[in-house]
Amino acid sequence: VLPGSADAAGRRATLGVMGGGQLGRMFVHAAQRLGYFTAVLDPDAQSPAGLVSHHHIQTAYDDPAGLAQLADLCQAITTEFENVPAEALQTLAHTRPVAPGAAVVGIAQDRMAEKAHFAACADVSGVTCAPYAVLETPAQLQAIQENRADLLPGILKTARMGYDGKGQVRVRTAAELAARWAELGGTACVLEKLLPLTAECSVLVARGCDRQVASFAPQRNVHVGGILAVTHAHEGNMPPALATRAREAAVAIAEHLGYVGVLCVEFFVVDDGSEYGRLVVNEMAPRPHNSGHYTLDACDVSQFDLQVRAMAGLPLPQPRQHSPAIMLNLLGEVWFDANGQMQEPDWHTVLSLPGTHLHLYGKMHARAGRKMGHLTITGPDVVSVKRVARRAAELLG
Ligand code: ADP
Ligand code: MG
Repeated sequence: VLPGSADAAGRRATLGVMGGGQLGRMFVHAAQRLGYFTAVLDPDAQSPAGLVSHHHIQTAYDDPAGLAQLADLCQAITTEFENVPAEALQTLAHTRPVAPGAAVVGIAQDRMAEKAHFAACADVSGVTCAPYAVLETPAQLQAIQENRADLLPGILKTARMGYDGKGQVRVRTAAELAARWAELGGTACVLEKLLPLTAECSVLVARGCDRQVASFAPQRNVHVGGILAVTHAHEGNMPPALATRAREAAVAIAEHLGYVGVLCVEFFVVDDGSEYGRLVVNEMAPRPHNSGHYTLDACDVSQFDLQVRAMAGLPLPQPRQHSPAIMLNLLGEVWFDANGQMQEPDWHTVLSLPGTHLHLYGKMHARAGRKMGHLTITGPDVVSVKRVARRAAELLG
């Protein structure tokens, strides 16, 4: 699908996205910059992406009429929302190229399938995931209680629909495991060993249907309460040897999936007594990722540009980062003062700091934990970026 083109009837080349959150919004911006029209399917009338798109189809993700309309409008379709029903992508794929495809999105939606994939390609990726066991039946619970003391203390994670630390609980004992699993309704879970993390990082890979691959250097991520808080994307953010291994592993994982589109692979760095620690693969997201937002301001091509290019079958050049960067996530908390009173952040002062790039997602109501926007700080060198980031973080409470 060439940018700015039109068909014989004069209809403009249009790219579609399932999901209208902030990732969809930034995708829409990137697509529009190249001259594409855009269509967003999201039930929410006020969805961040729906608000800025040429077309907003306001139906449920599995609504046959909505899907038909999206397929009719668009020459290619992607997703920004990993819990979009895989069947909906399957339906769209009957008539339109869909990237990433339903099968790989299905794998990323299910921690059991995801871990099985990581295990299947461990030989080529060179990394394994944390020791774990699948927990779907009472018999499996009993087997874990009897034979897998090595997994405790651990983290019990629902196999599906978990994000930002939701759907997971820490368990210390076999008795606690049974109680917590019951509280989760006995739904399919994985029990993962709690590892001594020294750091977390992620890698963004873009892959085209012609097997071109581009990737960004790993970024180091700091989570607070299970939600990404800060991303460090600059020299010295992690040991170079680990960074190289993480990048190669992420590319191997994407290739082994036959992936088309942008994939984010998250890793743990685990203290194993060695100098830099050991790399463990955690999970993957079949879309651009919060940890890659800095690429909008610090790279010549962003993760969203690569998503557009990959789905449209355009060239995927290796991106170049031109500035060191730190990204601060702006959660709903930032909109409340110490007394819980709503208050607009002091953007005037924040924006007076050099190299600050404010991105707000157009969400009307701030809530604790809700991703309202992000602030990327770029600068000529790591020291000044860190200094401004510290100051901005102070201002934002
Ligand atoms: P989510 O889908 O919510 O992002 P993750 O599996 O990435 O779920 O877990 C969220 C966070 O919890 C991780 O970023 C990490 O900080 C912590 N965590 C998850 N699994 C483990 C583990 N096995 N050992 C130690 N910390 C973990
Ligand atoms: Mg995660």
